[in-house]
Amino acid sequence: MSCPICGKPSQPRYRPFCSRRCADVDLGKWLTGQYALPADDPESQEEAAEELARQQDRDERKH
Ligand SMILES: [Zn+2]
Repeated sequence: MSCPICGKPSQPRYRPFCSRRCADVDLGKWLTGQYALPADDPESQEEAAEELARQQDRDERKH
């Protein structure tokens, strides 16, 4: 079995990860919602995309 984060062989101590670091990365993904189920809510996805576009727009004007 290999580490799901970086693909290196997993260590029994940190299974299924290869290191504490990769285990932490995985935990971080959970906490930041990167493992969220694919949205079956097109509206909220659209809103999120619009919000992102607004933020980028704002950033560009700042410079
Ligand atoms: Zn790893």
